[in-house]
Amino acid sequence: MDKQIKNQYDVVVIGAGIVGSFVCNALTQRGAKVCLCEAGEDVSLGATKANSAIIHAGYDCVPGTNKAKFNVLGNKMYEKIAKRLGEKIIKTGSLVVADKDGLDGLKELYRRGEANGVAGLEILSHNELKRLEPNLSDEIAYGLYAPTAKLISPYNFAISLCEESIVNGAELKLNFKVDKICKNSGIFEVKSGENAVFAKYIVNCAGSGCAEINRLAGAEKIDLKFTKGEYIILDKTEGAVVSRPIFPLPTKKGKGILVLPTVSGNLLLGPTAQDISEYETSVSTAGISEIKQKTSAMIKGLNFRKAIKFYAGVRVKSGDDFIVKLSDKVENFFYTAGIASPGLASAPAIAEYIADSLERAGLKPKTVNWKLRKPYTNTKKLSLGELNALIAKNGKYGKIVCRCEEITEGEIEEVLKGPIKPLTVEGVKRRLRPTMGRCQGSFCTPLLIEMMSRAYKVPVEEIRFRGETPLIVSPVKEGGIYEG
Ligand SMILES: Cc1cc2nc3c(=O)[nH]c(=O)nc-3n(C[C@H](O)[C@H](O)[C@H](O)COP(=O)(O)OP(=O)(O)OC[C@H]3O[C@@H](n4cnc5c(N)ncnc54)[C@H](O)[C@@H]3O)c2cc1C
Repeated sequence: MDKQIKNQYDVVVIGAGIVGSFVCNALTQRGAKVCLCEAGEDVSLGATKANSAIIHAGYDCVPGTNKAKFNVLGNKMYEKIAKRLGEKIIKTGSLVVADKDGLDGLKELYRRGEANGVAGLEILSHNELKRLEPNLSDEIAYGLYAPTAKLISPYNFAISLCEESIVNGAELKLNFKVDKICKNSGIFEVKSGENAVFAKYIVNCAGSGCAEINRLAGAEKIDLKFTKGEYIILDKTEGAVVSRPIFPLPTKKGKGILVLPTVSGNLLLGPTAQDISEYETSVSTAGISEIKQKTSAMIKGLNFRKAIKFYAGVRVKSGDDFIVKLSDKVENFFYTAGIASPGLASAPAIAEYIADSLERAGLKPKTVNWKLRKPYTNTKKLSLGELNALIAKNGKYGKIVCRCEEITEGEIEEVLKGPIKPLTVEGVKRRLRPTMGRCQGSFCTPLLIEMMSRAYKVPVEEIRFRGETPLIVSPVKEGGIYEG
């Protein structure tokens, strides 16, 4: 078959973060033939994998901006989408808290929220706040309560969206770092090394790589700035210290360092805001100290000895607002840029806006018989009777691989056969949480390596943690379990 015909799509979406995943899904739902090209070995390896995971209410954005518009719309869309995908979403609401001098700041956020159409905002007194959050510091005098804020797992969401798109005909190309874009007779050729895909439309959702994609296409120049955010994650024993995200008053640098529960039951502290010249995700002692000091000023009794993991994510900014637009220079080229916070909350609304814009640019919608993706088994959601029945059919659902997160061999096997096969241990971790518990993989990593080696029929030495990071270099003793 002619190479061009084989790889011909209506739309090539570049970048499989939360924005590209939503865009691919929205266009597939409208009947477009979509190819999602991702530089990484998996979906959601950019900003989407390391953020605060909050579907913000939308009171913080300056009225009239893209951020305000997309955040408030996106917030309203999430619950329905989560239900369709079988993804967890928790309606916690959120609080911005302040000492006695902070009332004016809270009132300003309240006014912005009203202008943006955020429902249910309330300014609460110290006593009202203490009823909601007993561990708040005694210095906290006022708080802004936003009941529409929610929590999700961003990388799980992106993976589910991509899997659902694939089930409905979209194609995902991993390890496809776009390095050349040409256009002949109105058709883009999008290349990664020797590989090429062809389409009439491109949507650039490349996050930190968006400026480079615009350059390759000959579209508008984009200036990017990077701000790193470091985090501490505490064990599940600490997950109930607060019941919702607790923010300080925002500053020019951002929303500040917050304390929040996660959908998995841990406690998350962070992020810092450090301007960096190049994209990097190291964690520093200075950053960790700052998190400890600032979170302790808001919440009493935080037990930092329960820290199980430190990590960082990078906000990618271009000016003060999101850029979401059809290029004026290159026909049928759409680009997103500077999708920092609240990009997660905004992503479904950004995707619908782009899908509408592409229709106006000539992409004809088609009726689709939409198929739901089958969610993976989650043994923790089953009743004892249901679990016993499942184990009677397949004993692997009774064999725990990850003790901390209680994940069974049967569940891991399902994921290894899924529509997007995780190529690394970290890929399995992102889908199911093995290695994410208190022991951080001390017990389950060898078992995961064996399972992946069997499932993919490759030697254990070829199973990587992430990228090229090896896990096994050589056997440590004669007769060791990894000797083949
Ligand atoms: C510390 C921090 C906290 C945050 N907290 C929140 C929050 O609580 N709520 C909220 O709403 N938002 C939050 N955000 C913002 C949110 O995480 C981002 O807006 C969102 O993840 C951006 O998604 P994206 O798809 O645009 O980018 P990314 O997730 O970065 O995805 C871009 C993808 O493009 C790929 N790519 C790059 N170059 C190429 C290329 N040449 N070829 C192919 N692929 C390429 C990358 O590999 C990547 O996978 C936070 C961000 C940070 C960093």
